[in-house]
Amino acid sequence: MDEKSAQVFLPPRERCFERLRLARFGETVTCVHCESDDVVKRGTTGKDAQQYWCKECETYFNDLTNTIFGQHRFKLEEMFYIVKEMRSEPTAQIARDLGRDYEAVLNFVHKVQDVSGEIDEFELYDVCEADEIYVTAGEKGIEDEGQSPRERGLKKKGRGRFESDKPPVLTLVRRDDGRVLFLVCKDLQDADEDIAEYSDGSVILCTDDYTIYDEIEEKEGVDGHLAVTHSDTYVIGDAHTNTCENRHSFLRQWLAKFRGVSKHHLQRYLNFLELKLNEPDSWFEKLLCYNVSG
Ligand SMILES: [Zn+2]
Repeated sequence: MDEKSAQVFLPPRERCFERLRLARFGETVTCVHCESDDVVKRGTTGKDAQQYWCKECETYFNDLTNTIFGQHRFKLEEMFYIVKEMRSEPTAQIARDLGRDYEAVLNFVHKVQDVSGEIDEFELYDVCEADEIYVTAGEKGIEDEGQSPRERGLKKKGRGRFESDKPPVLTLVRRDDGRVLFLVCKDLQDADEDIAEYSDGSVILCTDDYTIYDEIEEKEGVDGHLAVTHSDTYVIGDAHTNTCENRHSFLRQWLAKFRGVSKHHLQRYLNFLELKLNEPDSWFEKLLCYNVSG
């Protein structure tokens, strides 16, 4: 770490380890390989992680083994800082804050984004909504150093395509608990296939009157379809996509903070947003607990 990083407030390292241990082990440390609690402490690692010896399977592990933090050279408090800051700061800014190599920080940010997309299984059931939004995102984002950020915006009904740097995002919401899934699409012609893939058979799908949703109720997984026109002044019963539109406003505000995201990384950014929206109180603990060994 160089001198510039002295300006940044980092949480105390031992606090970070305590929080990590509590999230993944609770009160009793159990072996990450065999789950035995016949475990004894055996010193610490070079990164100050507690090391353990499992008497049952006779292997070592430590606080960081199989976590998102395990394979990175950063100090734990730096990684906590990155995860907290990536909610609102571009990666280049975080790298500058820490005085760390941009590529290395970006690598870790991508890891966290990818894991965010794997944390929860998503299935549509009962009354759900589908809607689409077009995001202006080109080959380059602010992540590509040396490029001046271009004028960017988001448009609701622009009818864009991935190739024309306006990738459509299909937004699926489960009305029961408001959980959301964002899918960046090449185009929307296969939207019905995507929807069917996540639907459990009981889905009553509310959409607008865009033709991609025509006869969606014929698809396996989908039981019914309520299409509304956006020119309708009144929302009739379940037939609306207001929850999707609410999530779109979060999406717009959030992406604006990054002043341009590459279309190739857009899905990753949306994975992280999804986790934050779906787990507003426990998203951080979910990341701490996540077992990267699969
Ligand atoms: Zn073991």
